[in-house]
Amino acid sequence: MSNYNCLWMLIFIIGTFSRENLANYEYDNSAPFAGSSRNPKLVWNYHPIIDLVSQTSGKTNGYKETKNDDFFAFLRDYYYLPDGLKTPLPEYDFIIIGAGSAGSVLASRLTENKNVTVLLIEAGKPEMLLTDIPALAPYFQSTDYTWQYYMEPQPGVCMGMLNERCFWPRGKAVGGTSVVNYMIYTRGRPQEWDRIAADGNYGWSYNEVLKYYIKSEKANLDGFEKNPYRNRDGEMPVEFVPKRTRLVNAFLEAGKLLGHPTVDYNAPEKLGFGYVQATINKGHRQSAAKVFLHPHKRRSNLHIMPETRATKILIDPQTNNAYGVTFTRNGIKHTSHVRKEVLLSAGPIASPQLLMLSGVGPKNHLTSKNIRVIKDLPVGKTLYDHITFPTLVFTLNTTRVSFNEARVMGIRYIFDWLRDGDNDLSSPGGVEGIGYIKTPVSDDPEPVPDIELISIGGSILSDGGPKGSKAVRQGIRLSNKVFQEAFGAVDNTDSWTSLPMLLHPKSVGYVELRDNNPFSHPRMYGNYLTDPKDVATFIAAIRHIQELVATEPFQKFGTKLHNAQYPKCKRLKFNSDEYWECAIRTVTATLHHQIATCRMGPASDHRAIVDPELRVYGIKNLRVIDSSVIPRTISAHTHAPAVMIGEKGADMIKRTWNMR
Ligand SMILES: Cc1cc2nc3c(=O)[nH]c(=O)nc-3n(C[C@H](O)[C@H](O)[C@H](O)COP(=O)(O)OP(=O)(O)OC[C@H]3O[C@@H](n4cnc5c(N)ncnc54)[C@H](O)[C@@H]3O)c2cc1C
Repeated sequence: MSNYNCLWMLIFIIGTFSRENLANYEYDNSAPFAGSSRNPKLVWNYHPIIDLVSQTSGKTNGYKETKNDDFFAFLRDYYYLPDGLKTPLPEYDFIIIGAGSAGSVLASRLTENKNVTVLLIEAGKPEMLLTDIPALAPYFQSTDYTWQYYMEPQPGVCMGMLNERCFWPRGKAVGGTSVVNYMIYTRGRPQEWDRIAADGNYGWSYNEVLKYYIKSEKANLDGFEKNPYRNRDGEMPVEFVPKRTRLVNAFLEAGKLLGHPTVDYNAPEKLGFGYVQATINKGHRQSAAKVFLHPHKRRSNLHIMPETRATKILIDPQTNNAYGVTFTRNGIKHTSHVRKEVLLSAGPIASPQLLMLSGVGPKNHLTSKNIRVIKDLPVGKTLYDHITFPTLVFTLNTTRVSFNEARVMGIRYIFDWLRDGDNDLSSPGGVEGIGYIKTPVSDDPEPVPDIELISIGGSILSDGGPKGSKAVRQGIRLSNKVFQEAFGAVDNTDSWTSLPMLLHPKSVGYVELRDNNPFSHPRMYGNYLTDPKDVATFIAAIRHIQELVATEPFQKFGTKLHNAQYPKCKRLKFNSDEYWECAIRTVTATLHHQIATCRMGPASDHRAIVDPELRVYGIKNLRVIDSSVIPRTISAHTHAPAVMIGEKGADMIKRTWNMR
């Protein structure tokens, strides 16, 4: 029986027997998670999809890699060492740590040259059939396809989340975060990249990075792809989502009425609104692994090791030369050396962590953790993130307009998606439209937006009800009590929302080590909303969304702001600025775009970790190539930028070593 047939049989069996067992979820708050790498224990009642997804990953103990022997392994992509090798070679030209958005493209480009050998180490498993379904994006945040990170407690934010902690999941898979993300494709505005270059980062102006965005892209965008800044012949599919609700048309029409033209929002010319562009192909997720690794996995010069955890970069303290990596697989420690370079692509949390564990970081901090200092650098000291307020819910007095999970979770829909890829399951978590606006709070003299609006064909209500998975609210760790008080009365009804994403937060966070154990989670500090301007920008965005909703395109659906009674905001007048500040502080959610923890900058930049060619200052043969190097906030979700950084990084390495 083929893999696909087995899956459908399983889904059918699980779907058939599970209906009686569905109920509300809650979390076991007694689970010890603060400060350890263990997951908080989630206790939810049985749901066919969540359960199936959870089981894809086997056990998660966080300390020891599991063998790839779980029940669903047959549905998973696989990567083996070639030629019957049981262990990796003692030496490679390059070792890449992390097969994520950047690491995957880097590995693929470097091994185009048959004479170059690369070892690619990845802590996570290969993706599987269910990760291909865009609508299931929210489900994966609670499986071990993600690192279950939590921000350190910060009073006054995430007040409505479990234990008042903000949840920061990141992808742990071959393909990295692109295996669990929402697939939105955005590049950032020209002025933002030009500012990065003007800071002294030669080679990173808009026109220079555009070349690399274009290189990867395989656009299929109804005419946009013919524009000079798009490409139809690259590897990474970028498409419109095949299934949309009528609500996104209301969003675009309302936008036009308020002066926002409908545009290709990735085009450099002007700000506007548009249908979401996504890294999908005919309704199927296209992760970085699917695009850049899967087709090349039989290259004999590319050794890919999933479920393998790098624990240290080896740096000679006399010469400051990076010469290898230690890593563990199935509990066994290995070391491989490099002839040329170690390339760190472990993402914005793990890259700074590994640097610090290896002796590169703030001197006093490393010393306090008993780590020998090789190079004193401000690793982890800068962290920007994009946050949002995801519960600005508008109810509709028209039924069957928005997405609703209950309507599409039948086996028939899954078969239809598999065959045609164009039903509700092709929607990336309901995301349908993107709009860039500049609120009156902005003092930017250039046409740079301060808010991105994300139009959803539904809301946090859409997967609720007695039989719903509630994956979205679980994905942000919203407390069940807060949800019930604020939204219980309208749960599982037709609705619309727009997520305002704060593009250029003034508040700055940081990341540091918890201890010197490579299996501990680092300590992460978002410092969200510590600058009053961030709050003011959010409130201005909420007012703008209300103006959009007041127009005829939305009013024809009877769209109405829901009066959410958050427990901590009840004393405040509904819809006042004070109410909104309280609401934002109650449901504060990251969009997972942490950047700048291994900040790029010229030698004169006292916050820089890597130079504009991504080489770590003061260390030879070590580069950081992932989203952690982005030095300033950009108006973009960070997958496409990370792929671009991987492309550009590969070219810089080829130039250094005179490789073709
Ligand atoms: C839920 C969610 C939704 C998102 N939605 C979008 C979206 O719609 N659009 C968008 O553009 N961006 C989105 N993002 C962000 C985007 O996907 C990431 O910023 C981007 O993928 C980061 O790429 P990267 O290469 O820097 O790191 P990653 O892709 O995170 O890759 C890092 C890899 O390193 C591995 N690793 C870490 N430590 C080790 C170690 N010690 N040993 C071996 N391997 C290790 C990790 O397991 C991971 O696979 C989302 C993120 C999340 C979490």
